[in-house]
Amino acid sequence: MTESVIPIFDLREHRYHSMTPAIPASLEHPTGLLGDRRGRPLHDLRISVTDRCNFRCVYCMPKEVFDKDYRFLPHAELLSFEEIERAARIFVSHGVEKIRLTGGEPLLRKNIEKLVEMLARIDTVSGRPLDLTLTTNASLLARKARALRDAGLSRVSVSLDAIDDATFRRMNDVDFAVADVLHGIETAQAVGLAPIKVNMVVKRGTNDREIVPMARHFRGSGIIVRFIEFMDVGASNHWRMDEVLPSADVIARINETFALEPIGANYAGETAQRWRYRDGAGEIGVISSVTQAFCGDCSRIRLSTEGRLYLCLFATEGYDLRALLRGGHSDLEIANAIASVWRGRTDNYSEQRGNADVRAARAAKKIEMSYIGG
Ligand code: SF4
Repeated sequence: MTESVIPIFDLREHRYHSMTPAIPASLEHPTGLLGDRRGRPLHDLRISVTDRCNFRCVYCMPKEVFDKDYRFLPHAELLSFEEIERAARIFVSHGVEKIRLTGGEPLLRKNIEKLVEMLARIDTVSGRPLDLTLTTNASLLARKARALRDAGLSRVSVSLDAIDDATFRRMNDVDFAVADVLHGIETAQAVGLAPIKVNMVVKRGTNDREIVPMARHFRGSGIIVRFIEFMDVGASNHWRMDEVLPSADVIARINETFALEPIGANYAGETAQRWRYRDGAGEIGVISSVTQAFCGDCSRIRLSTEGRLYLCLFATEGYDLRALLRGGHSDLEIANAIASVWRGRTDNYSEQRGNADVRAARAAKKIEMSYIGG
């Protein structure tokens, strides 16, 4: 018999626990170098700009939870663009070099290009432009791509779980067509939001037949498909280990049709392992959070729509940064509060997932991916 996660409370009413980070008594100026307890630097900030999405992907926002009675955050609870920009500048002073906007579906946030423009003006500690990117389901991408590029967005990642229209419609559960996603991708490519990455979450028995067709479709296009192991994010996606298809199997299946060889990482801490087609038709990636945990290099912090900080995708509680942003504190005070949170970080959930007690203790309390971004 297979095991499934049964929420012990009504997720529609759930609000996550958080604490307000303390401001240290003695304040230090940020140096751009910040390490956690395992020496992991803070390089990567993911900002969720909305908890809403127009898809109901079965592994992320299943309809039975995110239905008409689900209470999304009211507008006053969201961080304003000015608050997000202020927080981003403080994180950059600690060494963040890459910012990814996520959701929910980030293009649903009104005037998102305005926020992109504000963030694109920030330089890293070493004086380089930020690597500014966004993850989208592409439903609004054709309409927004040029404005996003003009505002300073560097590139986009698009979530697409199948190239077969019927399978994709079943997985997004709102009958959205593959052709419309592909149109969004083509438009983004045409305006220069490159390189585009296409993220496919592989669920054994649901869409694993789509692995080779996806590879075939995007080979030679300059677009990089990344195959992601189905993860136990949140408490509502009914994750089961037997639905995880290991990345090694993904590579083996593609390699049977299109010969592959491994290539090195672009930078330390890259989540995807890279492979290229031996015939020169481009590259793919695999993200193996379940079978090959990469916590040892994890330099990511997440800022939720309502301004809570999470140190791990599988966290059960966060830190209320909004309380500090709205509490009359200086940037230096907030920077020091963030520094002490990061310095105390030990998170490594993926390394512990194999321990049934750890899994059970967190099962019903993990934050949802639609709240924090992937
Ligand atoms: S499980 Fe948490 S600490 Fe490990 S890689 Fe994922 S986000 Fe980072």
